[in-house]
Amino acid sequence: MRLINNLIKSPDLQSEKFFSKISRLLPRKKSQWMINFPVLVLNENYEPLNVCQVRRAVVLLYRGKAEILENGSGFIHSARDVFPLPSVIRLAYVIKRHRFERKLTRLEVFNRDHYSCQYCGKQTRQLTLDHVIPRYRGGEHTWENVVSACIPCNRRKAGKTPEEARMKLIRHPSPPRGNIFFHVPYHLQTKSEWQKYLPQ
Ligand SMILES: [Zn+2]
Repeated sequence: MRLINNLIKSPDLQSEKFFSKISRLLPRKKSQWMINFPVLVLNENYEPLNVCQVRRAVVLLYRGKAEILENGSGFIHSARDVFPLPSVIRLAYVIKRHRFERKLTRLEVFNRDHYSCQYCGKQTRQLTLDHVIPRYRGGEHTWENVVSACIPCNRRKAGKTPEEARMKLIRHPSPPRGNIFFHVPYHLQTKSEWQKYLPQ
């Protein structure tokens, strides 16, 4: 897993050059958001490995390290070419999976909580990180003490504990599972073509 993450997250210089090249060719506004679309990455044996963004997927495809299985999102048009926009890709070789601990970041917490406020349950992109027991009261910055909160709930809770603020957590926060299935539920709303590659 770490291998695939490194591979996906740090394309070499050649790929970066390639990207700045195609970025120049692409219609600015349109391509800017399209290259951030999520792409499901499968191992050579079709096992789901990760979720990356279109820009990483295109690098892997361009370098012959992956093939495109689903083009669910249309095409990117440049002045000269048409690039299929990948939605599912399959690596050209097997990556061995390793269990690893997820880093505690805002994005990972939002993903764990399915982009929903853990106090009122509202699903939104406008989330904040809330320490259940406030840090100045000895609350730790750990998976068990950090949750996603919408802005109104965050304001309401302020520096209080849930009991003091009379707010109840929807579920008890815990560390996420160290695998891809943790990212997938959120994207499935818009990426139904992923379904057939995922275990039922
Ligand atoms: Zn809320």
